[in-house]
Amino acid sequence: MTTVTETRTMFGAVIHAPGDVRYEQRPRPVLLEPTDAILEVTAACVCGSDLWRYRGISKVDGPTPIGHELCGVVTEVGSAVTTIKVGDFVVGGFNPSDGTCPLCLKGATANCRHGSHYDGAQADVVRIPMADGTLVATPAAPPADLIPSLLALSDVMCTGWHAAVSAGVGPGSSVAVVGDGAVGLCAILAARELGATTIIAMSRHEARQRVAREFGATHIVEERDEAGSERIREVTDGIGADCVLECVGTESARLQSVGSVRDGGNIGIVGVPHGDLPVDQLFWRNVGLKGGPANCRAYLPHLMDLVWQRKINPGLVFDLELPLSEIAEAYAAMDERRAIKTLVRP
Ligand SMILES: [Zn+2]
Ligand SMILES: [Zn+2]
Repeated sequence: MTTVTETRTMFGAVIHAPGDVRYEQRPRPVLLEPTDAILEVTAACVCGSDLWRYRGISKVDGPTPIGHELCGVVTEVGSAVTTIKVGDFVVGGFNPSDGTCPLCLKGATANCRHGSHYDGAQADVVRIPMADGTLVATPAAPPADLIPSLLALSDVMCTGWHAAVSAGVGPGSSVAVVGDGAVGLCAILAARELGATTIIAMSRHEARQRVAREFGATHIVEERDEAGSERIREVTDGIGADCVLECVGTESARLQSVGSVRDGGNIGIVGVPHGDLPVDQLFWRNVGLKGGPANCRAYLPHLMDLVWQRKINPGLVFDLELPLSEIAEAYAAMDERRAIKTLVRP
């Protein structure tokens, strides 16, 4: 209960430098715009893209609140918010969107003309901008066992889905997935849901292979580079996969995708790009390339429905759960690949 003596602070994760994420007291967020909502976080998680800064590959400009994947309960809404109510359990897409601009109306919510990015979701309380266009409420308070799968919708499941949609996966497709992190595993689940019949997971890790099979992988390829592409051709009539889902972003992963797709096929690319692509080769081989940040908000209602009906269970990607106060270990475990993905609870 709010009292006049309440201290307006909370705790959250702050990245200070590569390898240095701390659990710190911070000002409690307040409504700044009439379109904002404030959430009490039920669960948040560490993203593979958070690791770019943790590993020093992307720059850290002084102490920065971190995290962009969350679900929780709405405690306050601004005067202009109409679809989200206090008490709703909501999932936030990682890329806020207004839901009303010409690009949002075409489903390109990741590129909303008023789009932004929020950092600081690994916290007790978070302010979400453009709440109507960013958040989706569940039909009712969710049962506890659905929380991980709902949380996965705030990024990795939408991103895996985006890879599959971008590559045009459909009934009967052969699909190869490059990357066995949480996004790659969710891409396998997306390919299955979209009707792919051959789904090849590229993975060398036993625990990840197990989740891949659970999500619908029909083949596991442990080889890399040309040997990996050769194995993919062996199960695709010698031509390569119709659709390759690139879920890593490194140059070697991008080249693996080009080497594994068939002529006339498509690459769906969702790994944050760090490296070049042989565009001339794509031209001569009639290979399509599409992707980018996921249109989370556009996909959320459908994917939430699938989770709610227990048709998909992307929450299986979380293999470590910690209290938010142990956020440093949450990062270390993912960095050292001891965990696929860490869920944290305030
Ligand atoms: Zn993320
Ligand atoms: Zn928009």
